[in-house]
Amino acid sequence: MTTTQDHELIIVGAGPAGLCAALYAGRSEMDAVLLEQGAPGGQLLLTELVDDYPGLEEVGGLELAERMTEHAAKFGVESTYGVVESIRRDEAGRFLVAVSDGTVYRSSAVVLTAGGTPRRLGVPGEEEFRGQGVSYCAICDGAFFKGQTIAVVGGGDSAVEEGEFLTRYAEKVYVIHRREAFRAQAVLEERLLRNPRAEVIWHTVVEEIRGDDSGVASLALRDVGTGETSELPVTGVFIFIGFDPNTTVLAEHVEHDAGGYLLTDRDMRTSVPGLFAAGDVRSQLVRQITTAVGDATTAVFAAEKYLVDLAEREGSESAAAGSEGAAAPAGATSA
Ligand code: NAP
Repeated sequence: MTTTQDHELIIVGAGPAGLCAALYAGRSEMDAVLLEQGAPGGQLLLTELVDDYPGLEEVGGLELAERMTEHAAKFGVESTYGVVESIRRDEAGRFLVAVSDGTVYRSSAVVLTAGGTPRRLGVPGEEEFRGQGVSYCAICDGAFFKGQTIAVVGGGDSAVEEGEFLTRYAEKVYVIHRREAFRAQAVLEERLLRNPRAEVIWHTVVEEIRGDDSGVASLALRDVGTGETSELPVTGVFIFIGFDPNTTVLAEHVEHDAGGYLLTDRDMRTSVPGLFAAGDVRSQLVRQITTAVGDATTAVFAAEKYLVDLAEREGSESAAAGSEGAAAPAGATSA
């Protein structure tokens, strides 16, 4: 059975951006609902330790997620379990956010903070050692591999750029790519190839990530040409084989960049009036917790302003319609 719930604002996704949006919406005493399909925290739940969030020198990803959730709840917005299936608009332009239990949440503004999903390699050991040597974020986790030997998987801009970035910390970075040519920009490739701490292993795939109680210890590799197998000792592996923004729930076209990330203006407005985007789902230079919460703050204030302007516009339109209606008989009389 379908039930419809009306709210002033719907926030979709409870990662750092969504939790921050909920905090500010609650603080502004908006009637907001925050929908999340898993535990609140988003990518924080995949991060062992965060050491670049101002004011918290070192905090576990899980702990930061819990603290952000409690902080948002303190201002009155609880995160509500809901697997969002679609976001569309009705004839009046209101958003209808349908979740899998049959509830439809309705509002005139939505802040989409659904994040993105790093593509997985899908090999044995990847899930087991996630957060224990397997990472999808060089800026988040690179510093934990100081002086160590690590690997990066992929051959696009992310793998090549992040591989080079990781040489700041690691003694040796192997970049493992399945073909004999990168698809990354030449300038990034040249920078990597010039770096004495980086070495490319071409034409090779990772078949297994191996380790023990202390984390990743080695990678089982296979040369895709010769079929030859080998074992590469590493203490960490960064997987950069693409990242998919979670935008498939959007029923209508929203302008995006070539990677599918939503384009916004400086106030986080997307091309659809009333739809705001913040965090990893948005096209931007870096995807950090700090940028996500900053974007989300802007998005909520912009959404609030949008709702006030909308109410004023609708109010003056209905007043005009009323006065036209009232004026009609007089007009008729004078005619
Ligand atoms: P991407 O361009 O899609 O590259 C993914 C890489 O991973 C490709 O080299 C691909 O190999 C490899 N790959 C995919 N699946 C694999 C698998 N199962 N096993 C092994 N390798 C696999 O992704 P991205 O590097 O994350 O970049 C995403 C977008 O962001 C791109 O448009 C990129 O230009 C942009 N970006 C730009 C910058 C920058 O301008 N500085 C930085 C980062 C990202 P193949 O080459 O064989 O297909």
